[in-house]
Amino acid sequence: MSLLRSANVTTDRILFNRPYMTGKELSYITEAKTGNMLAGDGPFTKRCHQWIEQSTGCNKALLTHSCTASLEIAALLLDIRPGDEIIMPSYTFVSTANAFVLRGGVPVFVDIRADTLNLDENLIEAAITPRTTAIVPVHYAGVACEMDSIMRIAEKHNLKVVEDAAQGVMSSYKGRALGSIGDFGAFSFHETKNVISGEGGALLVNDSNMSLRAEMIREKGTDRSRFFRGEIDKYTWQEVGSSFLPGELIAAFLWAQLEEASAITEARLKIWNNYHSMLSPLESKGLLRRPIIPVECKHNAHMYYILLSPQIDRQAVLTRLKEKNIYSVFHYVPLHSSPAGKRYAKVHGSMEVTERQSERLLRLPLWVGLTNEQQKRIVNALTKIIEELK
Ligand SMILES: *Cc1c(COP(=O)(O)O)cnc(C)c1O
Repeated sequence: MSLLRSANVTTDRILFNRPYMTGKELSYITEAKTGNMLAGDGPFTKRCHQWIEQSTGCNKALLTHSCTASLEIAALLLDIRPGDEIIMPSYTFVSTANAFVLRGGVPVFVDIRADTLNLDENLIEAAITPRTTAIVPVHYAGVACEMDSIMRIAEKHNLKVVEDAAQGVMSSYKGRALGSIGDFGAFSFHETKNVISGEGGALLVNDSNMSLRAEMIREKGTDRSRFFRGEIDKYTWQEVGSSFLPGELIAAFLWAQLEEASAITEARLKIWNNYHSMLSPLESKGLLRRPIIPVECKHNAHMYYILLSPQIDRQAVLTRLKEKNIYSVFHYVPLHSSPAGKRYAKVHGSMEVTERQSERLLRLPLWVGLTNEQQKRIVNALTKIIEELK
């Protein structure tokens, strides 16, 4: 190896995310094109549905344009009315809240746990009012919320549970796939997630009584899916709905990814575990905290984040990493502090953990293909910067 080449290894740009392709995407897209089936719910969509149903155990899986669209269908299925309250974390993506606000619902933010950064199950009950209709746990970084407790609270107060499992494909809680535990689950196949189709998502319906309505809402409020199955002789307008289904080209791309979902997860876990052991010394010195995975949770290595100690300036770490051509990023600006969050949502109790953890969090590059050498370079750079800043 030439000196030039080895010199590059230490300075090349390391992106935060690089979408991984399995190599079959284009041939499946060609197959869909050749079959002249370009609209939704063709053979590739059916394969994806079966794969999700079999791998998660959900009653019915429906591909959508996005996790956002899946959450919007869930809000329609729950008949959210103006003023209905939905309990969720503030530390999440905007879609978790938007889907319900679109129906006039009011997100009620509850603080998160310091260990997993997930909704604190011990704070949920105090936030319940006669207007509460649902709880939306978000499985941050593909690590499950405390679902047994959440389901128990929901049952006791007759509330529905919508799992925002956008980051949770291939993760589980006590052996149950994320998205298959609540009444509904929402997956994302956005380019930044583990298994991708550019934009894309799925709704997991776990209550069999809701399957037909879910199908109709996704198909413009019609019973077209039943018509295609030969169950009825014409289809008509049945429900309030919209067009939430992706075309076959997206499903063909996604199928190439789902086939490799286990291999993708394994490759990511290897990188995740590598970071975890390499960063242990910095944690021992009290300079950062590594992710904590409860024993009930099997995660999918969606994200490797660190929580910097309060004395270390996060922006300085980000800037200095960037100077070394390493792209690291922070994450959510808590929704309760955003302009729309203030307008459309309520806060229940203190947001102390949400505020503290979100300000300290940094996500490191994690994508299939990131080499051991690159990881060493990232950790070495990070160590040096943190030691200088402490
Ligand atoms: C990515 C993400 C979404 C949105 O997913 P899209 O497929 O882009 O709509 C929603 N919630 C969480 C927690 C996410 O991480």
